[in-house]
Formats: sequence, structure tokens, C-alpha cells
Amino acid sequence: MDLAELIGRRPTPGAGLLVALTRRCPLSCAHCSTNSSLTTTQRPDSKQLLRFVASFEPANRPDVVMLTGGEPLLLPRLALRLTRSAQRAGSRVALLSGMYFARQGRVPRPVMGAITALDHFSASVDAHHEREVPRAAVFRALRAVLDAGTPVSVHLTGSGPDDPYLADAVADIRRTFADRVPMLVNEVRPLGRGARLAAQPPPAPHHFRAPPCAMAAWPTIAFDGTVIACCGQRAIDRRPVPAHLRLGHIAEHDWPTIRERSLESPVLRLVRAMGPRRLHSRYASSPPPDGYCRACHGLSDQPEVGDGAARDASGRVGALIDGLVADEQRAAGPAALVRRFGCARYADLVTLAPAEGDR
Ligand code: SF4
Ligand code: SF4
Repeated sequence: MDLAELIGRRPTPGAGLLVALTRRCPLSCAHCSTNSSLTTTQRPDSKQLLRFVASFEPANRPDVVMLTGGEPLLLPRLALRLTRSAQRAGSRVALLSGMYFARQGRVPRPVMGAITALDHFSASVDAHHEREVPRAAVFRALRAVLDAGTPVSVHLTGSGPDDPYLADAVADIRRTFADRVPMLVNEVRPLGRGARLAAQPPPAPHHFRAPPCAMAAWPTIAFDGTVIACCGQRAIDRRPVPAHLRLGHIAEHDWPTIRERSLESPVLRLVRAMGPRRLHSRYASSPPPDGYCRACHGLSDQPEVGDGAARDASGRVGALIDGLVADEQRAAGPAALVRRFGCARYADLVTLAPAEGDR
């Protein structure tokens, strides 16, 4: 599975599932949005996770499962078991790693076993990572993964479109891998430890200005097993989760239930279709609070919003609107999506094509 295909499915409700396997991470990047480190131990219960993924059925499963962290490859055996279980139902599995293991100069066997079972492998590369894992070591490990036949991409993060680090790293990756490795380029967000690094005041990322919100399309399993309608770090860390964003918990609910809740929720349908600020403005008597996600988090406190959404977006009409907006975003292609959600200058790199032998 190529990066473009993975990103291309992002606007489709229920087409994917994000799993935060552990908050733990051997690195301590200054921009880490999840506040990960080796001292944090929070992670979903393994048995509950395996049971949840075992509830996928060929006719009702996410097309894509994305394993993230923290560092998911601190748990290579669990990652492998989840991958195999999801693939049995027809899902494809991708994983995003900070590449801690590359410092050893080789990919340890259990880690390589987990990686080669994947349908796609993504490595995080940025200036903060490079202070702990040299770029050359990451490239060596990526070459080994490519040689083993797993498609690879790089997730780059910089301070903004003019960051010279990004220009240098992009050129280096393109040259080293002869454009066989697509890239997803993001800007540091004011979240977790990244809050100290983001420009002051934090710039409004493109997607925070632009409805609709595709980030409400794929449920996310948070570090405590709560399943949240959105992958935004504020929603993942906030307790209690705003009612319209809480889909359930892996201890109590299976995939068909979670998917149905996401797809059938009138508020989520309209967050996906028109974005939270327009939704608030349409139904609430007060103006929306500043900020795209802040407006979203406040929706549960506005009973008129729930009532209005239930009136206008329940049933087939709501499903139709939800589907049409997702189709429109999908038709615009993965680069258009990255222009809104990532660093627009580098959006086209998401479509770099791997060589035939890498697929
Ligand atoms: S590798 Fe990723 S999860 Fe780990 S500290 Fe760095 S940014 Fe955070
Ligand atoms: S608008 Fe709501 S669903 Fe979308 S990213 Fe923000 S909090 Fe999540």
C-alpha cells in the first residue's frame, strides 16, 4: 500500500482506525505532541486490543489500521499479532515509528518481523529526531526495509514551509532513494512538548481554518483504550472526552459498534461535512469560541447543536451529505488533502511513486 492510497482514504468515514499502541518512547523529542518518553507507561490493555481487532469481519472492518505511539515498535510482537489479525479480516496495516532501533546500525529481528508483516511502514524524520537518531542510520534501516519488500514513506516535520531543514531533508531523501520514498510533510503543532516550540502565537494550521474536518472520519484508540472520533491530540488527552467525540472503549465495544456510532452520529456527520465552527454558528445562539478544535470541543455543551443536527442530519439525508463531502475530498486526491492538513508547499511529495519492486 502506497502512502498516497493511505492518505487518499483519510476523508472516508470508517475507512480507517488509528491505534495508539503505547505512549512510551525511547526518544525524547522536544516537539513531541504526545509527551512521550521512557518514563511514561500508559498503553491500552493488550488483550482488549487483540479482542477489539478480532471483531473485524471481512464485510465490516476498517480498510486501513494505522499503528502509532509513542513508539509502537517497543511492542513488536503485539504489533505483529494485531497486524496479522487485522489482515485476516482484509484490513491493511501501516505503522509509524520514530526509528529508535536504527541507532544500533541494524534492524533487530523482532522489529524486522513486525515491519515486514506490514502493508506500509512510515518513519518519522525531523531535526529533533536527528539529535537522537542520525539521519544516515535511519536511511540505512529504511533501505533494509525496502529491500525486504515493505513500501516505505517518511513523515517529516518542520517549523513551517520556509524551514531550511525541510528543504535539505526533502532534497536528501529524494536523492538518496531516487524518488522511491513518498513523504508527508507537517508543521510543528502547539501540542504536548511542541507547545513550547510552536511559533508564538501559534499559527492557525490550514485545516483549522478550513472546513470540513476529515480528522473526524477515522476513530482513534487512545492510550487508555477509549475510542475517540478524532485523532487530534487534545481530544485524545482530554478527560472527560466531549460527549460527541467519545465513541466508546475497547473493553466494552467492538469495531462494528464503534463504526456505526461514528457513521450514524448527526453531530459527527456535520463536523465532517461543514466543520465545527459552521455547525456551531448554524444552530447555537452564542458565537463559536475562537479556534477550530476549541469550537468542536464545545459542541457538546450546546444542546441546540445536538437538537439541530439530529433534526437535519439523522437518517438517509445526513448519511448522503456525509458521503458526498467525503467523495468530494477523495476525488480531490491525497495532495489536496495534505495541502489543508499538512505543509502545503510539500504536499505533492505524498504522491511520489515507489518502484514496482517496492509494492
Ligand atoms: S519519536 Fe515520536 S513519540 Fe517518540 S518522543 Fe519523538 S515525537 Fe514523541
Ligand atoms: S474539529 Fe473536532 S474532530 Fe476535527 S480535529 Fe478538531 S476536535 Fe477533532
